[in-house]
Amino acid sequence: MSNTVLKCTPGTIEKMKLHYKSHFSEKIPQGGVFVAKLPSCTITAYKSGKVLFQGNSAAGEAANWGNTEAPTKTTTPKKPVAKNSGLPPNIGTLSMVGSDEVGTGDYFGPMTVVAAYVSNDKFALLKELGVKDSKDLNDKQICEIAESIIHVIPYSLLVLHNEKYNELQAKGMTQGKMKALLHNQAIGHVLKKIAPTIPDGILIDQFAVPDVYFRHLSGQKEVIKDQVYFSTKAEGVHLSVAAASIIARYAFVKEFDKLSEKAGLELKKGAGAQVDAVAAKLIKKQGIGALRSFTKFHFANTEKAKKIAGV
Ligand code: MG
Repeated sequence: MSNTVLKCTPGTIEKMKLHYKSHFSEKIPQGGVFVAKLPSCTITAYKSGKVLFQGNSAAGEAANWGNTEAPTKTTTPKKPVAKNSGLPPNIGTLSMVGSDEVGTGDYFGPMTVVAAYVSNDKFALLKELGVKDSKDLNDKQICEIAESIIHVIPYSLLVLHNEKYNELQAKGMTQGKMKALLHNQAIGHVLKKIAPTIPDGILIDQFAVPDVYFRHLSGQKEVIKDQVYFSTKAEGVHLSVAAASIIARYAFVKEFDKLSEKAGLELKKGAGAQVDAVAAKLIKKQGIGALRSFTKFHFANTEKAKKIAGV
């Protein structure tokens, strides 16, 4: 199957809407304008202006509407895999499941973990849709890219809300163990989704050395061990981790916005002084108990906020 992406003006998208009207599908992805299913091509237009053509006649169909967007210059470093990294030397050409998490260092907001499968025939498409190291992207760009890629690749998203996080933490579970459990679970979900396909490997953005990671998982019913690799800065090693990271960040931002609404305050990301000040406002508004559902309560911010709020 081939894929082509066009960047179109709102006017062109309006024309497309009329042209493809009789082929519209009812299921429109988040961030989408329309989906049209032709016999050998599916067309998905996004609010971002990107229009994705998928199928055997993708290139021909897209050619009716304009020039294919120049392939995005990717900043993914083409660095050779270090010899002692333990990674397959050709990892950049393999079909992998990648996993990453977001929100572990943020006082407000949940922890989100995503595992995503990217087969090597999707590399070009994901690059065209803008997938790269999320550290080079702002939240708005991340949301736009995420809304288009979630319809293109199989993934699993797990959200650990703070009520549950605080409960586990109070029982003595470390954040490292929570991460390990969630990564293992998300990867398991993706493997089930893509079965009978078996990926060439699984790459986890490393937050603990492998021994510690697997120790956290001891006693779990299902521990995924086969072909599991670890790398720091794994977003730059394989697109599956870059994609997982973008979806995890997107989910975090969405949840964060919901929380701000619930708080009636504009919450702040991170764990700095601004965060203490907002937390103090929240204490005054909703009482100290509210922090348990909004924050990672054991962070030092709690005590600082209490001091500011004078409680
Ligand atoms: Mg990470």
